[in-house]
Amino acid sequence: MENSAETIFFENLHLHPDAMEGIASMGFSKPTPVQEQAIPVILSGADLIACAQTGTGKTAAFLIPIIHHILTQTRSGTQALVIVPTRELTVQIDQQLQGLGYYSGISSKAVYGGGDGAGWELEKTALTQGCDVIIGTPGKLLQHMVMGYVQLDSLKFLILDEADRMLDMGFYEDIMRILDYLPKKRQNLMFSATMPPQIRQMAKAIMHKPVEISLALAKPAEGIMQSACLVQESDKARLIHHLLEGKKMESILVFASTKSSVKQLAKTLADIPGFSVRAMHSDLDQPTREATLNSYRNREFQILVATDILSRGIDIDRIELVINYNVPQDAEDYVHRVGRTARAENTGLAITLISPRELESFKRIEKLVGYQIYRMKLPDGFKEGHAPATPERPHRSYNRKKKG
Ligand code: ADP
Ligand code: MG
Repeated sequence: MENSAETIFFENLHLHPDAMEGIASMGFSKPTPVQEQAIPVILSGADLIACAQTGTGKTAAFLIPIIHHILTQTRSGTQALVIVPTRELTVQIDQQLQGLGYYSGISSKAVYGGGDGAGWELEKTALTQGCDVIIGTPGKLLQHMVMGYVQLDSLKFLILDEADRMLDMGFYEDIMRILDYLPKKRQNLMFSATMPPQIRQMAKAIMHKPVEISLALAKPAEGIMQSACLVQESDKARLIHHLLEGKKMESILVFASTKSSVKQLAKTLADIPGFSVRAMHSDLDQPTREATLNSYRNREFQILVATDILSRGIDIDRIELVINYNVPQDAEDYVHRVGRTARAENTGLAITLISPRELESFKRIEKLVGYQIYRMKLPDGFKEGHAPATPERPHRSYNRKKKG
């Protein structure tokens, strides 16, 4: 549904031209909703808690105003410390900063303790002599901090990214200890995909009158026809064959949970007459992945079988059909996967194949999206999977009833 609010562009945010240039070079044409709301708050100097689901652009929501700040204020020493739960994230955020900050000459260092002595020395140098932005995991940052050489006197921003995950991973104490090494007067920004009570508690301990932004979880776009089918695990590939055989479709995306099932399924589906198939997973090197994506975009083959590396954020136009070969473990992944179809004004179809063991996970997804997803009848020749006699998890009342 459209609301009547005007569209906000990055131009409306009054950012430094070099920051604008960085944004343009990343190919961002307008801010995402969380960016639209968070950037002005951060620029105003207030503390912020922002809660928005994964894949909504939270990273740039804090990197852009930080880059703007660095460009417009006297700049000496480390200006921002970003704390994240994993080393992969330190690297990913560092890369995004290097992209967005390319025209601003931002210096940054990911501190995650590669392990070797040389890496440690480089981190130590950055933490001693300062660079504009430091991104690190709580444990590694503390290991340096207790040594006494970390210089953060000029710090302006503390960012806790993926705060919910950091708490899940038991980093609360480490984060609290890190605070002792930071100047008291600073701007605190916290980003999280969810807002459990512990997050509010942590916010209370760390932040000063934070502005709170909470964006409701996105539901699958209205243009997506969603359906699901209860089927024996061992019949799933055959069912896809059956559904596609004789059809004319140009762009189908099949998600499977593991690399090995992706590889296997890509082979199996290759026998469907009229369709060619490629696989996409993390064993492929980056150039191969990009080449595969490009030929998929160009419609050089019809079926792409992929792990979740493709479910988030990647924009491919006009995918006609998304098939979930497995029910995604994480309910949010479902929204991301089916969201690959029906982008913008298009309509699309999504089918999820549910084995008896996966039924509970699927019901959690239905709870998240807030409605029941249409159950397709199995074609002749297929046996419906039956739910195991004992549920894997305690029942919740919402799914006890049989649907009519
Ligand atoms: P989150 O932290 O909310 O999970 P990310 O910050 O990792 O999400 O962003 C998800 C993806 O969206 C990234 O690939 C990022 O480059 C892209 N992205 C971020 N902001 C924009 C924008 N304004 N326009 C287009 N793409 C964007
Ligand atoms: Mg993030």
